[in-house]
Amino acid sequence: MSEKIGKHIAIYGKGGIGKSTTTSNISAALAEAGYKVIQIGCDPKSDSTNTLRGNTYLPTVLDSLRDGKKIHLDDISVKGFSGVLCIESGGPVPGVGCAGRGINAAVNLLQELNLFEEFKPDYVLYDVLGDVVCGGFAVPIRDGITDRAYVVSSSDFMAIYAANNLFKAIQKYEPSGGAKLGGVIGNGLTAVYSQAIIDDFTKKTGTKAVGYVPRSLVVSQSELYGKTVIEANPESEHANIYRSLAKYIAENEDLVVPNPLGAAELRDWAREWGDKIYQIESGVVGEPAEAI
Ligand code: ADP
Ligand code: MG
Repeated sequence: MSEKIGKHIAIYGKGGIGKSTTTSNISAALAEAGYKVIQIGCDPKSDSTNTLRGNTYLPTVLDSLRDGKKIHLDDISVKGFSGVLCIESGGPVPGVGCAGRGINAAVNLLQELNLFEEFKPDYVLYDVLGDVVCGGFAVPIRDGITDRAYVVSSSDFMAIYAANNLFKAIQKYEPSGGAKLGGVIGNGLTAVYSQAIIDDFTKKTGTKAVGYVPRSLVVSQSELYGKTVIEANPESEHANIYRSLAKYIAENEDLVVPNPLGAAELRDWAREWGDKIYQIESGVVGEPAEAI
């Protein structure tokens, strides 16, 4: 593959965990700082860039390909907040085909259209659904498209389970030119022990947390306006959290191949935390989990 133009970063995580919210705020923060940014939604939900472009209509790459007409960049992209170029790969017709297919189609089309040579981005962010890292959804970390991935996770077991699966995919593909891991972004944290759970999981897997975004009404309210926090509430504490996260991700070169936990290890680890939370909440130290 030819020399990359810009830093290409994949952001994974389970559905509904806050990938698009986090990615869009990172894009907005980088654009606000003067960088040229492209955000590519790689989720059949096709709503990755909504808050960067005021919820306006944007045809997806797959929908445009289905029309069979010659596609121009303007047909499948729109400039949003601070000039962030927004693209949605799209998904299959419900009930037909592979959900990850759009990603491959989008990546191929963008190369054909010489997007990166012409737009000359500083950063390209891929917002990728990571519930199952199947062939299609692994494309951004597998085929040399990005060289670094981050995962958005809460302290909930299903989110950590999805993060652990991404670690497995990275471990598998990295030796043949796949991406490495930049770290874990904690999102939607509420309980006092949420951060401790994420920290413990990253320690166990040889990775690290690169930022923590607490749950906040500022995020919900900005979304209702069809805007990122950076645009709708630029003076808020949350805007600054996203700015710091963006700066960290932009500059971080400490990339690793994670050591995912095996199925039994992950189950035991979760159970230990179940016991700890019981002890914290009940004030009873040393009771086994069966006592609940
Ligand atoms: P995903 O892209 O992973 O499917 P979204 O970014 O669309 O998830 O987020 C799902 C919902 O959670 C959205 O309504 C979003 O506003 C909300 N959300 C995400 N992060 C936060 C947060 N830190 N605080 C409050 N709400 C959040
Ligand atoms: Mg999303």
